[in-house]
Amino acid sequence: MAKFFLRKKIGDRVINGHPWIFANELGESEGAYEPGDIVEVFSANGSFVGKGYVNPASQIRIRLLTRVQDEAIDDQFFYNRINEAWKYRQQIGYVENCRLIFGEADGMPALIIDKFNDYFVLQTLALGIDKYKGAIVAAINKIFSPKGIYERNDVPVRTVEGMPQIKGFLSEPFDTQIILKENGLKFHVDIETGQKTGYFLDQQDNRRAIQHICHGADVLEAFCYTGTFSMHAAHYGAKKVLGIDISENAVATARRNAELNGFMDRCSFEAVNAFDVLKLWVKEGRRYDVVMLDPPAFTKSRENIQKAITGYKEINLRGMRLTKPGGFLVTASCTNLVDPQMFLDTIDMAAKDAKRVLRQVVWQTQSSDHPIIRNIPTTQYLKFLIVQVL
Ligand code: SAH
Repeated sequence: MAKFFLRKKIGDRVINGHPWIFANELGESEGAYEPGDIVEVFSANGSFVGKGYVNPASQIRIRLLTRVQDEAIDDQFFYNRINEAWKYRQQIGYVENCRLIFGEADGMPALIIDKFNDYFVLQTLALGIDKYKGAIVAAINKIFSPKGIYERNDVPVRTVEGMPQIKGFLSEPFDTQIILKENGLKFHVDIETGQKTGYFLDQQDNRRAIQHICHGADVLEAFCYTGTFSMHAAHYGAKKVLGIDISENAVATARRNAELNGFMDRCSFEAVNAFDVLKLWVKEGRRYDVVMLDPPAFTKSRENIQKAITGYKEINLRGMRLTKPGGFLVTASCTNLVDPQMFLDTIDMAAKDAKRVLRQVVWQTQSSDHPIIRNIPTTQYLKFLIVQVL
């Protein structure tokens, strides 16, 4: 096994538990290795730091899997880690649907596994973890006896790691159009062609958080995807809900979800660009009791944070203007590049421009099946805010 040595003057981040080692943090290395191989990492003075997988094509050169020198990285390792993660999810109350593995937060960098009841969707986003797909699938089979496993590795970040973008079955083929249950509601999930893994589990607690503001309300949900928040609004007593999304497919599924839950009389959906219509509807004088906004990330890179902030500010400004005095704005941001304070500052700027005062009702993050590790800042990515717009 090849050995790598950290450079002398690097911070304590890795020593304190962060699993990523960047190219510029590494000094000498000994021994041959192939991209994706497991290697050992030592501090500059030779003490053992950890073992992980290496990829010379990535700026994140090594991602650590263990801090125990004699722990083998094999089938048993993945079985143990996945089993531990499952026990943790059960302990904190996520049984039917959950993000079973949230990469770094579960000690398995670049691995995502979503559990939709009996179905599992996985993503292996780095070369080193991709090599263990077989072991990971074997562990899922052993622990859960699932009805199906599917890989959604059609993700651009794989290209950086020198891997193809692919998707397909990791079990016997099955019908990838499934129905999952959440908070007593039913949702169509398209595992094969839906966005990301098919369903946004990270908002599952936040969807419950709108419970008390929807009764008798006229609701607008922008960036609604398959209408999950809209369904909850109807469920919690909204009298009328309009969901909009730019994706025709998402809107078609949202309509099917309304049908599935018996909300066709209250819920309607339109495939339109939110940036265009929110502006127009402000001008037309439309006003809602509740406006919900859950836009996409707007940026994937640090260089474009300002562009993302401008996007968030614009849609939140329009969202506030569309909210009746005393109504509620439900707003989220899903990129870790915009940190919580930055997001709140952006909302405050929008409120200033809209000349509205905000009263904070709920301020939270992703559901706890996507654990936040305090010293791995990228594990905290979702911001979720409900304010009353006075
Ligand atoms: N709240 C949803 C997830 C929303 S994901 C849930 O919890 O299930 C963000 C959505 O924004 C995607 O469905 C995407 O299609 C949509 N979107 C992206 N750009 C858009 C635009 N300009 N106008 C409207 N919708 C857009």
